[in-house]
Amino acid sequence: MNISESKRLFAHAQNFIPGGVNSPVRAFRAVGGDPIFIKRADGAFIFDEDDNKYIELINSWGPMIIGHNHALIREAVIKAMDNGTSFGAPTAREIEIAELIISMVPSVEKVRMVNSGTEATMSAIRLARGYTGRDKIVKMEGHYHGHGDSFLISAGSGAITMGNPDSPGVTKGTAKDTLLAPYNSLDAIEKLVAANKGEIAALILEPVPGNMGLATPMPGYLEGLREICTREGIVLIFDEVMTGFRLAPGGAQELYGVTPDMTTLGKIIGGGMPVGAYGGKKEIMEHVSPAGPVYQAGTLSGNPIAMAAGLAMLRHLNAHHGIYGALNEIGRKISEGIKKINIELGYSYTVNHLGSMYSLFFSDEPVIDFESAKKSNTALFGKYFQAMLKRGVYLAPSQFESLFLSTALTDDLIQKILDAHRESMLEIH
Ligand code: PLP
Repeated sequence: MNISESKRLFAHAQNFIPGGVNSPVRAFRAVGGDPIFIKRADGAFIFDEDDNKYIELINSWGPMIIGHNHALIREAVIKAMDNGTSFGAPTAREIEIAELIISMVPSVEKVRMVNSGTEATMSAIRLARGYTGRDKIVKMEGHYHGHGDSFLISAGSGAITMGNPDSPGVTKGTAKDTLLAPYNSLDAIEKLVAANKGEIAALILEPVPGNMGLATPMPGYLEGLREICTREGIVLIFDEVMTGFRLAPGGAQELYGVTPDMTTLGKIIGGGMPVGAYGGKKEIMEHVSPAGPVYQAGTLSGNPIAMAAGLAMLRHLNAHHGIYGALNEIGRKISEGIKKINIELGYSYTVNHLGSMYSLFFSDEPVIDFESAKKSNTALFGKYFQAMLKRGVYLAPSQFESLFLSTALTDDLIQKILDAHRESMLEIH
């Protein structure tokens, strides 16, 4: 595979951009080799600067759930552009998207649009603190909520991939207000709550974490968290930046039937444009400025182009719930296919799968939390990643990520992915 133009661009980029990229995992540090630079994307495919074509299993880290460059989104964006790119003043479209989100996501009674998932989670915990008058938050080990200071403590995703789950630059003062718990342990939460009685403002988690690779909640876990938070007056925040509009029209909270007090959203909600949102109970959201005293603002928040893309995406998903059945089937075929091939070849690696998300862990143990995820053989994952890339399949360049499937994956493409998997497994062992 010739990637000479990508190599040239990466070398050049490093003169101007730290590490040559604008988000760390893109640099391929965890998997070796040079990153490929993307020229364009269409449907199930991305094309690099050397005109290599790859089947896409990341989909811009989640947003492109109906495939790349979908006509619906493209046309909505082009039409919106005719009227200008930003006004910094309210628009009718913002009400439309707010109404739609509220109708789709069970916990959301009022919603504020922001520009990224990071902004959504940062704003949500500030609001929870302002609302409860308490300082501490609980976060799960290995979960990632963007790069706000309070969350870069035992953080998953790029933070663990780069070896910095606790980032320098986060003050001790900030870090001491973030309490850590292992995912899937109600006991640990009970202990934390007892030791910090009346001091915890919020418990934030990815209900289905994708940022330590995919794991799923044990039966009763989310329900248990709901009970504890209600009992203790703690704001329960589901970070559904990844899972929102992906696992179901109303996200993981709809799938598991557990309603948090607040929800953070991103990715799919922008149809590929930079958008985030946080929402929840009216009573809590009414504390956000200018309705209430908790300040949060944004020059480009509710941007008309981003809202047009997001609206087109959400309207489409809302009008075609059958998409979720189709996505689940794609996820099932790929993850079951991988498991079957692994067994045939004599490997018992863990495959976690839910709906259109899955992770193959190079570990024989079940992965239920950060500790078990970290037992994976990351060096072997790096070899697998390169073997798949060589065969035209683009995976997330880290063991500690979920893959995100799109409706653009046909049976033919699924077979190609499985063939590439078989050949790659044979190559790397
Ligand atoms: N929360 C979760 C669960 C995420 O997966 C991410 C990003 O991957 C974020 C928050 C941060 O979103 P953004 O990268 O848009 O700031």
